[in-house]
Amino acid sequence: YFITFEGGEGSGKSSILKSTEKKLADFGYHVMTTREPGGIEIAERIREIILDQAHTAMDGRTEALLYAAARRQHLTEKVLPALHEGKIVLCDRFVDSSLAYQGFARGLGMEEVFSVNQFAIQGVMPDLTLFLDVKPEKGLARITANEERERNRLDLENIRFHQQVYEAYQRIVSTFPERIRVINADQSFEQVEADALQHIVSYLKN
Ligand code: C5P
Repeated sequence: YFITFEGGEGSGKSSILKSTEKKLADFGYHVMTTREPGGIEIAERIREIILDQAHTAMDGRTEALLYAAARRQHLTEKVLPALHEGKIVLCDRFVDSSLAYQGFARGLGMEEVFSVNQFAIQGVMPDLTLFLDVKPEKGLARITANEERERNRLDLENIRFHQQVYEAYQRIVSTFPERIRVINADQSFEQVEADALQHIVSYLKN
C-alpha cells in the first residue's frame, strides 16, 4: 500500500510520519518511509536545481516539470520496488503537494499541473492520503524561528502564500474524498499520532 502524508508548514507531518512508521513496524507490518527526492541521486540533483537561490529567474512551469521529473525518478527507483516487495510505503508529500504549491499557490492551475504529473506517475496514485490539517497561522507559529533552513524558506514564502496552499488542500480534499482523510493537526502530538495510526490501520484491515 502506498500512503502519503500531506500538509503545510508546521503541520508536524514529518514527525508524525516517523512515529507512525515505528508503530506500524511494532505491529509487524513491513514499512518503508520516504520523502521526495528520497535520497535518489538523480532526484536529489533535480531538487538542488529547484532550491538553488541563484535561480530566481526559474519559470513556474519549469519548476513544476522539475518536481514532476524528480517525483518520477523517486517513484520508479524507490517507491515502486518497495511496493512490489509488498511493503507499506509511507511517503512525505507526493502529487497533492504539486497541485497545492505549483498548481494553486503559484497559480499554474491544478488541472494543468495534474496532467504533467500524470505523465510522470502513469496512474500510480496513493491508496490513502492523510492530510494534516492546521491553519497556516498556527502552523507557521510552531516553527522555531532560529532554524536557519526554516527561516530562509519563510522569507521566500509569506503568509499569503501559505494561506493559498491551505485553500488548495481544502479543494484537493473535496476532489478526492475517497482517498484523503483529514486529521486535525492542531492537537497534541499524541492525539495526532493516534488519529493517523487509526486511519491507516482501519484502511489496511478493510
Ligand atoms: O515541509 P516540507 O519539508 O515537506 O516542505 C518542503 C517545501 O518544499 C514546501 O514548504 C514547499 O516550499 C516546497 N515544495 C514545493 N512544491 C512541492 C513540494 C515541496 O514548493 N511540490
